[in-house]
Amino acid sequence: MLKKNDEIPLMIKSCTVQGSGVGNYDGLTVFVRGAVTGDRVIAHIIKVKKTYAVGIIKKITQKSPDRIKSICPISEKCGGCCFAQINYEAELKIKRQQVEDNFKRLAKIDTEIKSIIPSPETERYRNKAQYPISGNSDFAEIGFYAPMSHRIIDCSDCRLQPEDFKRIIDIFREWIRDYKIPLYNEQEHTGMLRHIYIRKGFVSNEIMVCAVSTDRNLPHTDELCKRLNDRIDNVKSVLLNINPDKTNVVLGKECVTLFGSDTISDELCGLKFEISPLSFYQVNHNAAEILYTKAKEYAGLTGKETLIDLYCGTGTIGLTMADSVKQLIGVEIIPQAIENAKRNAAANGISNAKFICADAGEAAKMLCSDGIEPDVIILDPPRKGCGKELLETVKKMSPERIVYVSCDSATLARDCGILSELGYQTREVTPVDMFPRTGNVEAVALITRN
Ligand code: SAH
Repeated sequence: MLKKNDEIPLMIKSCTVQGSGVGNYDGLTVFVRGAVTGDRVIAHIIKVKKTYAVGIIKKITQKSPDRIKSICPISEKCGGCCFAQINYEAELKIKRQQVEDNFKRLAKIDTEIKSIIPSPETERYRNKAQYPISGNSDFAEIGFYAPMSHRIIDCSDCRLQPEDFKRIIDIFREWIRDYKIPLYNEQEHTGMLRHIYIRKGFVSNEIMVCAVSTDRNLPHTDELCKRLNDRIDNVKSVLLNINPDKTNVVLGKECVTLFGSDTISDELCGLKFEISPLSFYQVNHNAAEILYTKAKEYAGLTGKETLIDLYCGTGTIGLTMADSVKQLIGVEIIPQAIENAKRNAAANGISNAKFICADAGEAAKMLCSDGIEPDVIILDPPRKGCGKELLETVKKMSPERIVYVSCDSATLARDCGILSELGYQTREVTPVDMFPRTGNVEAVALITRN
C-alpha cells in the first residue's frame, strides 16, 4: 500500500490540463505537479486518497522530449503558467484532449472536436493583469497568488503581460515606499491599497491603470498620476477603484477617475471599442479575433437574420457580425458594459443594434414573450455556463443556429447535453487557445435545430 512520504519510480503517461503528470502505481493513479508526459520520475508522495495519490517530483530520471526549460524564473512557485515546462505543441494536444474528454466521456456527446487553433503569440499576449499587494510600505509584495493560496509570489515582470506593465509596477513600488502608502492586510482587513489592475489596448496602445483601495482617501494619488504620466507613454486613464469589502472579488463597484479618461479604446476585427474598467474585454487580442471569426463563420449569416447576443459584454461579438444581419440585440448584466456597447455601436456607425441591460435569462424570456424570432443566438456565458432554464427559453425562441462560445468546456459540454434533449444538436466544436501556458481552454460550438 502506497503511503505518505514514500518515494516511488513513476512513468508519466499523460498530463492534466492543470499541468500535473499522471502515472500509475500499484493500481493507483498518481498525480505529480510539473511532470510531463514521457518523463520518468522519482515521486515523493505527499497525499494518498482512496482512488488517487499526489506526489511531487523528487528527481527526473529520464526527461520527456516534450519538456522545455521555463522562460520564467518563478513559474514553479507562481503556478499560473502550469505548462511552463511543456512545449507548446504538447500543451495544445492536452487542451484539445480536455475538450474531447468533456464532450465524449463526461457529457456523452458524440460530436466532432476540430483541431485546436493556436494563439498567434504565447508570450506577452495578455492585455490585462490584476496584481494583489501585501507586506508593508518599505517592502511591498506585488505579484500573483501561489496555487490554491493567498500567499503572494512577488513578480513584476510576468512573461504573459506587456513589458509596460513591469514598468508600471516598478513605479508603484517606488511610490509606495516614498509615501509610506498603507497596504491592505487581508487577515486583519486593515490598510488601503489592495490590488493594481492594468489594461492595455493592443491596437490603440492606450493604457488604463487602476489602484484598488479599501478607502477613497488613498493618499498621494496626485504624485502617482504624475509619475505614471512622466514615465509611461500612452497612459490614458488612471483610476481609483473602491473595494471596502472583506472579499476575494478584486474590484468594487465604484470607480473614480484620478487622471485622464474614464475608459480606454481598442480595435478588434476592424471595429473600435471603448472599454470601462468594470467591463469584460477578451484578454488575448489576436486570439480573440480568430475566435470571433470562427463564431461568425458558424453563425452562417446572410444579411437577413435577427441575431441575439446573450452575455454580450461591450457588444464585441455581435457588433463584429452586425454588417451581416438585419438586426442585432445584445444582452449584458453590467451597466457600464452596456453603456460601452451602445457607444461602440454608434462609434462604428452601426444602427441596426440595440442593447439591453439585464440578466440573460430574464431578458431572453422577455424577448420571447415579445415575439422576437431570432435566427441565430450567440451564447458567451461566464464559467458556470447557461444552465437549463435559459436554454429552455432559447429553445422556445426556436433559432436555427446557436453559436456557443465558452471558457469552460465542462459546462459547455453539459449545456450541449441539455440542448440535445431540447432538439438541438452540436455539429462541431473548435477549441481556440486564448490562454497559452495556462490551464484554461476556450472553445466555440456550432449547434443547430434538428
Ligand atoms: N461576449 C463578450 C463577453 C463575454 S464574458 C465578449 O466576448 O467580450 C461574459 C459576460 O457575461 C460578461 O460581460 C459578464 O458581465 C456577463 N454576465 C455574467 N452573468 C450574466 C447574466 N446573468 N446575465 C447577463 N450577462 C451576464
